[in-house]
Amino acid sequence: MGIEDIYTQIIAEKSRSIANRHHLDAPTDVVAGKNPTCGDEITLEIDRDSSTIKDISFVGSGCAISQASTSMMIDLVRGKTIPEARRAIEEFHAMITEGELTDETMATLQDACALSGVSHMPARVKCAVLPWHTLAHALDEAEGKNAPSTH
Ligand SMILES: [Zn+2]
Repeated sequence: MGIEDIYTQIIAEKSRSIANRHHLDAPTDVVAGKNPTCGDEITLEIDRDSSTIKDISFVGSGCAISQASTSMMIDLVRGKTIPEARRAIEEFHAMITEGELTDETMATLQDACALSGVSHMPARVKCAVLPWHTLAHALDEAEGKNAPSTH
């Protein structure tokens, strides 16, 4: 089994996984993202304080790549600090748009590297980056607000 087959299998499994597909009890941020080209729609629910993403989940529908990418991103950023999450977003964007898969990228992105082949499929790039852009947007919005009280 080649690495491409393993990646295809990870994408298929992640796209069907329901582990991250649910609502949070008390999200601090709810942000929707859409890729009309393909029909992908996701809503991220985030529970964070001013420094850390304590929990994150999503609901939505779309193609296997968008759904797998969302679930992989959630696995990756849950429990991470906001700067760590931003770094992962940047690495993912570079991997998908420039096709760059360095050791550092692999260490940062882990399973999400399974989507590196999307860099050769221009029509699917928007599917893969949708959740990452949606999260970046949520973090930008959060920075504009006052930090929520921690209780
Ligand atoms: Zn799609």
